[in-house]
Amino acid sequence: MNNLIWFRNDLRVADNLALIEACKGDNLLAVYCLDPRHYAVYKHGMYKTERFRVQFLIETLTDLKKQLEKLNISLFVYNEKPEIVIPELVKKHNITTIYSQQEWTKEEVDVNNNLITKLPASIAFETSYGQFLFHPDAIPYDSFQQIPEVFTQFRKKCEKYSKISAPLAIPKAKNATNLIENKTVIPNLKQLGLNPVALDTRAAFVFKGGEQEALNRLQNYFWETNNLASYKKIRNGLIGEAYSSKLSPWLANGSISARTIYSEIKRFEKEVIKNQDTYWLIFELIWRDYFKYISLKHKDAIFKLGGILDKQYSWGRSAEAFNSWVHGTTKEPFVNANMLELATTGWMSNRGRQNVASFWAKELEQDWRVGAAYFESMLIDYDVHSNWGNWMYNSGVGNDPRDRKFNIQRQAAMYDASGAFQNMWLQKTLF
Ligand code: FAD
Repeated sequence: MNNLIWFRNDLRVADNLALIEACKGDNLLAVYCLDPRHYAVYKHGMYKTERFRVQFLIETLTDLKKQLEKLNISLFVYNEKPEIVIPELVKKHNITTIYSQQEWTKEEVDVNNNLITKLPASIAFETSYGQFLFHPDAIPYDSFQQIPEVFTQFRKKCEKYSKISAPLAIPKAKNATNLIENKTVIPNLKQLGLNPVALDTRAAFVFKGGEQEALNRLQNYFWETNNLASYKKIRNGLIGEAYSSKLSPWLANGSISARTIYSEIKRFEKEVIKNQDTYWLIFELIWRDYFKYISLKHKDAIFKLGGILDKQYSWGRSAEAFNSWVHGTTKEPFVNANMLELATTGWMSNRGRQNVASFWAKELEQDWRVGAAYFESMLIDYDVHSNWGNWMYNSGVGNDPRDRKFNIQRQAAMYDASGAFQNMWLQKTLF
């Protein structure tokens, strides 16, 4: 029995059910496809994936290849569509089963469907959910249609009735004969048609991709600095690496699992301190799950103008408004500083994201999907469910029961009282 594991947003060897199952075959081949559609100009003249996330992905793949080699598994990396590469590999290596993480959003499902039509009917295609804290089999709902539209209801019920499983161990190494000649090379940014990432000294954090780097960050944020013990108090910060965990880019491409973070929080609570702050990181991880369940429930509605509420607002489509928002030249210095941070580093704090999204959708009243697409392009931690779910939420077409509009100046006074964040980004103009 020859298996193939097709890595997507589950780029890790620990707590990876698809990998464990795939390892049970006689031989195993691992594949990742840098899908050219992800690196092309996409909606509204933007690249679908800007250089920040691509650089992070390249680093992630480099580490994954190394970790898999320790298990005697070769990672083949192709700069090609999965539906072209995988059928060829299936034929060449007599593959009988393909393992992969379960995906459900439109583009991912389209790729699955394209792939399946190109495979012989005898090939089994096994998928599993590897991205959740509360696994779909463990939630207290019989179907995704029962997921409540209010986060608090979902959280309380899951906290009461769902068990979070311990992370799965790294599988045992395969026989050395499983490691086969691999001439594929992980491309660099230039080969993917992108400009290099220039480090900016103002960056909140210097992200480096890969499972090992994710664990290093966990080690640092929890154990070395003890920042977890005050997370709730500092999480609304805007400057520097301490204010929040910065784990999102690794979570987004799956180089660390939510369950691994959860089990480490639990260990910290036992060995160091258990307080509101340590709980709050779990609370935020539940938000992450929630948006995944909302997208499972509502499918493509999360990408539609009316959102999951099917709201009929009148939305603007001004190129001028877009340019001033993106280039940080709106009338709001706080919005501008955040947008310059995003353009320069691929990162923005949660506080910043809420403000610039609210400003775009509720103050400028521009098509919220254009803002979401810009975030999709730029963010180093882009995650389809979190991005579109949060954008709907902040645009009045999603899960905010109070449909709030941010008072930007009040927010700036509250979270950047000294003006340090705004000064930092507005003093030196980029464009
Ligand atoms: P922490 O505060 O340390 O939180 C820990 C983890 O909890 C995060 O890594 C993240 O996985 C999860 N989390 C925290 N807040 C949220 C939230 N509001 N929704 C879902 N999960 C959350 N997050 C993404 O990972 N990818 C996105 O594409 C994304 N787009 C967003 C767009 C908008 C308009 C807004 C308002 C928020 C968006 N978020 C997104 C959520 C949130 O801003 C980031 O997860 C967070 O800022 C990442 O920083 P951190 O890892 O230091 O978070």
